[in-house]
Amino acid sequence: HNDPFLSHESSHMIGGYEVELFVDTPDHDLICIICRGVLRCPVRVACNHIFCKRCILQWMRRQETCPCCRKPISQSLMFVMFKLSKSISRLPIKCRNEQQGCRATVPLSDEYLHSSACPYEWLLCPHPGCGARVLRKDSQEHERTCGHWRQLCPMGCGVLLDRDSQVRHNCYRELQQRYESQRQTQRTIAAALRRKMLRMQSSMNHMRRQIGLICESLELSQGAEGPGEDPGEGTSAGTGSRASYSSSSSNTSSSSSS
Ligand SMILES: [Zn+2]
Ligand SMILES: [Zn+2]
Ligand SMILES: [Zn+2]
Ligand SMILES: [Zn+2]
Ligand SMILES: [Zn+2]
Repeated sequence: HNDPFLSHESSHMIGGYEVELFVDTPDHDLICIICRGVLRCPVRVACNHIFCKRCILQWMRRQETCPCCRKPISQSLMFVMFKLSKSISRLPIKCRNEQQGCRATVPLSDEYLHSSACPYEWLLCPHPGCGARVLRKDSQEHERTCGHWRQLCPMGCGVLLDRDSQVRHNCYRELQQRYESQRQTQRTIAAALRRKMLRMQSSMNHMRRQIGLICESLELSQGAEGPGEDPGEGTSAGTGSRASYSSSSSNTSSSSSS
């Protein structure tokens, strides 16, 4: 999205890397004789001469002889030189924003990594109608002061806001979301209350059952005590009351299970 960047890239696509880009003047055997640049994706042909892959393929569309020694060459006898390519990629280059003030030097392989974050890269203001070119390091400052600043409402209502309308903007989506979040908290509170109520109900039921059991056993023990007291003394009466007590306890257990 910025012009010097594009023109620079497109000039590179044709052949090798610009010699001026490198911190140290590259060795002459790293230069492609077709484009006069530093070898980009170097390939070796049958006669052992080396060229950029793109350069030699373009050359061979016209003639199948080596541009150096005129010996016959063919695509089937062409080898990519990976090691050479790797060592070229490690050569240090100057930042192409040197004129704007960048003093950084990076390995050729990191060129894109650096330029996509270089503080001295020219950027075009993204707001339509502005057209200002600012260095990346100044872009935030420009963003604050740009007269063409526009932004879609961040709440997603679809209204395009400028600085004035941003302050005055009464967003229905914002109200909607606030209302929705209120309803959400109310729903959570209601659910918590319902859970609490259920817990209380179940413990009440438990207590009711316990009370029932206690009442039942009280009634039964009163019923068992009544006839046991009337006969008074006598050894046979003692054994009789013991027998009735044991039968009452078996009654209790059967009623509790139901
Ligand atoms: Zn070349
Ligand atoms: Zn040759
Ligand atoms: Zn830079
Ligand atoms: Zn602007
Ligand atoms: Zn809005």
